[in-house]
Amino acid sequence: MPREREDDHGADGLARARYCADCASWRVVTPCPVCGADLVAEDEGEDAPVAGAARGPSRGEFTLRLLREVAPSLPGALVCALLSGGVLASQTLLPFGDLDWPPRIVAGFVACAWLLERARAARTQGADLDMIALGGVLLRALYLLPALVGILTLHPAAVPVAVVFALLGPLLLAALAGEEPLTDLAPRALAQALLATDGYARYAALSSVGLAAVLVALGWDEGDPLWRGPAIGLGAALAGTAAGLSRRSAERTPE
Ligand SMILES: [Zn+2]
Repeated sequence: MPREREDDHGADGLARARYCADCASWRVVTPCPVCGADLVAEDEGEDAPVAGAARGPSRGEFTLRLLREVAPSLPGALVCALLSGGVLASQTLLPFGDLDWPPRIVAGFVACAWLLERARAARTQGADLDMIALGGVLLRALYLLPALVGILTLHPAAVPVAVVFALLGPLLLAALAGEEPLTDLAPRALAQALLATDGYARYAALSSVGLAAVLVALGWDEGDPLWRGPAIGLGAALAGTAAGLSRRSAERTPE
């Protein structure tokens, strides 16, 4: 049984939530009831005084934790930014007038690959750009590419696809990036993951922001690749991290 420490309680008896990185979840008891990590020793050292009595994390705490999860992915985001920015630059540098779509599609593939790789790494707490996993990730990026680039066509059928990605983005992306995507993508498995995720709406909002940044940068005609590349790299990193973290918390949440 998890043991609550007395100093975790404020004057009004509410426990303060602390972040468990292993579970990507906020816990009000320490050690973490799921993985057993000592959450006080991890980020506060000594027995810190309990400030306030917030049940969940404040927005600042959540943002700080998110940045700590995203920050290690910056080298990968840079690679993605250089590749996609370079491809998009060919749009303006090549002496053809109507070559909008080929660079956009290739840059979209780079974005999909980086997004899924980031989701895989965040979900498993693994390293980015793992060469052993990269082959499978590249293959799955081909599955994701038509949906993502299809939204850019602004065809009427793109609207429901965009809505699905806004609502279910973290679920679908993390399932696609997992080791058994066919099993994870089954409706029942998706529903279970949704119910088990801590704070799903927050992850869905973050992944929507990331996906929107990628789509705007890809679709912006004649925009400068100097900002479009970084927007794609960072947007995909954010969306992938949100997807991976949501699934990590779902996998570690007890019944
Ligand atoms: Zn934990």
